[in-house]
Amino acid sequence: MIIAIDGPAGAGKSTVAKILARRLGFLYIDTGAMYRALTLKALEEEIDPGDTAGIVKLANRVRIELKYKRLCGLNVFIDGTNVSKGIRQPNITKIVSDIAKIKGVRKVMLGLQRRMGESNNSVLEGRDIGTVVFPDAQKKFFLDARFNERVNRRYKELKVTKLKDITVNNVARDLSNRDTIDSTRKIAPLKKAKDAIYIDTTNMSVNKVVKTLLSHIKNRVDQSIGFAN
Ligand code: C5P
Repeated sequence: MIIAIDGPAGAGKSTVAKILARRLGFLYIDTGAMYRALTLKALEEEIDPGDTAGIVKLANRVRIELKYKRLCGLNVFIDGTNVSKGIRQPNITKIVSDIAKIKGVRKVMLGLQRRMGESNNSVLEGRDIGTVVFPDAQKKFFLDARFNERVNRRYKELKVTKLKDITVNNVARDLSNRDTIDSTRKIAPLKKAKDAIYIDTTNMSVNKVVKTLLSHIKNRVDQSIGFAN
């Protein structure tokens, strides 16, 4: 069974998808982390994000893996190196959308994500899961929240990392920039799938969002994997 969760940054996708996957015993696939890992590698290899051919070549050459450890959760590897921390740095966030809009990059990721998702009962989160990667997913959700709330959530997350240049204004600028690139790109833009359930999480606790999603999927899960509870 596939559960697709899409939406813009700061809508609560990751937090909720992780909890949901754990509760259901499903695999959690963070597709954004895969684009971030490629972005980090491109920076390391000094390939300009504007060098489309160079980036696509890189995407076809690298090995991106998501691995799970009970205590530390999801770890992201590129060519065997754990980059889970590095991919969250602001310099990656700033340019990841420019890398993710490249056609050849999306083609590579699509193949990878389908292979990973198909081999397990999975919760996938991203921007194009319900529209492109798994258009036949059994359950689709589109999580959203007001822009200011999304900025505040991201700012709070980043503040504890004590990284330089983390101000509300910077976070707002980066988020707005990513929103625009992600939703206006030609290939697989961020949009709600027609059959996705739209949830505005602005005034909802994490617990409430998880409960809402579970209430929508419980019947499907019962039918498809005999989930008892
Ligand atoms: O989810 P996260 O914010 O980590 O994603 C980082 C970026 O990766 C997004 O802003 C978007 O540009 C790209 N992305 C995408 N398609 C996905 C997941 C992420 O284009 N399915």
